[in-house]
Amino acid sequence: MKKMSVDDKLGLNKFYPDEHNPHIEIDPDFTDEKEIMRVVKACPAELYKYENGKVIFNHEGCLECGTCRVVSGGKVVRVWHYPVGSMGIEYRQG
Ligand code: SF4
Repeated sequence: MKKMSVDDKLGLNKFYPDEHNPHIEIDPDFTDEKEIMRVVKACPAELYKYENGKVIFNHEGCLECGTCRVVSGGKVVRVWHYPVGSMGIEYRQG
């Protein structure tokens, strides 16, 4: 059996994003580049971007690992909770 790469395994996961109730909310007016870049670099799904002095985030594709919540210390991420039942990620292979 062929060994699967991490990207191949992640590609098997299914996502059911809750478009009307994002489980993560950021402070769009937060501008401290150093603090923002800590979150940008920490997110394994690369959902945070830093463009033109602003943080940009899309919760679709979130792995629900909680890393951004811990790393930001409440500075970039204002709200973090798990998606409501049946929404969010459905892991298949890791
Ligand atoms: S919970 Fe994990 S995957 Fe989701 S946005 Fe935060 S760091 Fe990225």
